[in-house]
Amino acid sequence: MQSFSFGKSALGLAIPAYRFGTQGPRVLILGGVHGNEIEGTTLALALLEQFSQVYNFKLRLTMIPVFNVDGVIKKERLNGNGVDLNRNLPTKDWNPKAFDPKYPPGPMANSESESRALTTFLSKEPQTMIFSLHSWMPLLNVNGDCMAEAQAIKELTGYEIKEEIGYPTPGCLGTYAGLERNMPTLTYELERGLDLKEVIRVHQPAMLKALHVSEQIRRDK
Ligand SMILES: [Zn+2]
Repeated sequence: MQSFSFGKSALGLAIPAYRFGTQGPRVLILGGVHGNEIEGTTLALALLEQFSQVYNFKLRLTMIPVFNVDGVIKKERLNGNGVDLNRNLPTKDWNPKAFDPKYPPGPMANSESESRALTTFLSKEPQTMIFSLHSWMPLLNVNGDCMAEAQAIKELTGYEIKEEIGYPTPGCLGTYAGLERNMPTLTYELERGLDLKEVIRVHQPAMLKALHVSEQIRRDK
């Protein structure tokens, strides 16, 4: 494992990142994009602990378990500037007007240092598959072709697979990477409020199964 600072947050804090594997397709796992969605952060940290003991996937995996480090520390959805990091990416449909005041997109697309770290990373190292771990209503939101990974998770969790979540999300990672850059993105919405031991018991094996699928079907770009 190699650890590094992925970038810095609005408050100037390091965003810790970890790399595993030296061969195979590139896969990214993000947790904590929304700081209050502790179920996704928990799942990412559980996987990180497992992989730091044993990692034998033929995948070049990058893990960023606490992407919105400001939000996680503040126990809030938004970053230190009060911006929703899943609405700030420079997608074609980015709009300065918040669709919902709870999800402020920031003053400009890519205005946040966290977003810039992510967009720079994705342009330098295009990923063959991205998992973004959130919590809300339980569902698997697929953007781009990642139905096989979603099916693997569905088999172990019963979670529903959806291509649309029912309202517009301009500036989100699913659109930026999954739809506009051919980097399939699975937004894994864990059940909000689920006991954290259950998050690990049920969803860690589901993520491992999905990674096995990625290992079998993905080819490096
Ligand atoms: Zn979220």
